[in-house]
Amino acid sequence: MNIIFMGPPAAGKGTYASLMKEEFEIPHISTGDLFRAIASKNDPLAVEIKSYIDNGLLVPDKLTIKLVIDRLGKADCKNGFILDGFPRTLNQAIELNRTLNDLGKKIDKVILLDVSFDLICKRITGRRTCENCAKVYNIYTMPSAKGDICEECGAKLYQRKDDNEESIKVRYQTYLDQTTEAVNYYKAQNILVNINGEDSTQNVFQSIKDALKGE
Ligand code: ADP
Ligand code: ZN
Repeated sequence: MNIIFMGPPAAGKGTYASLMKEEFEIPHISTGDLFRAIASKNDPLAVEIKSYIDNGLLVPDKLTIKLVIDRLGKADCKNGFILDGFPRTLNQAIELNRTLNDLGKKIDKVILLDVSFDLICKRITGRRTCENCAKVYNIYTMPSAKGDICEECGAKLYQRKDDNEESIKVRYQTYLDQTTEAVNYYKAQNILVNINGEDSTQNVFQSIKDALKGE
């Protein structure tokens, strides 16, 4: 099963992609996590990537597409994968399609998480991320039972530098301007499923699983 999670920033893509990974035992590929790992290093590429992320801008397509193509070629993607945060532009979607065609694969379903801008703003300020395993918490709605320590791996939680109100406005506008086209691309292929992302985590996850049934 090859799945894509789409939706505005903080819609819950990462949260549901990790839950799916547990249940279906297929890798969760988050371009945001991959880029943050690159940005934490100490080289010129890290400096470049960090400046895009910190300013709420998209990393250029060429770099992004190469990163994902390399990742999809790894052995663990054999039985399926979950893409989170990719594609974010029409060009990325087309290039992904081309790569999968070459590999004799296809996308089965695209889950679009609908969440209002108001709720996104509330979620962004409460979001905390594990610096080691990238698990996502929210201090208001999904706190770690261990405070500012990750329940899974014991590492420290931090607030992403781009998780502030200024950056979220830019990122949301980028989503409307550039990602909508990619969403429409999948809609035209009849593989897009809209899910209300404002319900409880349990209910949203159930709706996602219902939508994937029969695949
Ligand atoms: P969110 O959880 O808010 O949706 P992500 O963690 O997915 O954010 O992404 C963080 C940042 O990483 C983006 O703002 C962007 O700079 C970069 N990024 C992630 N995915 C892509 C992509 N597909 N294309 C370009 N840039 C990306
Ligand atoms: Zn962790």
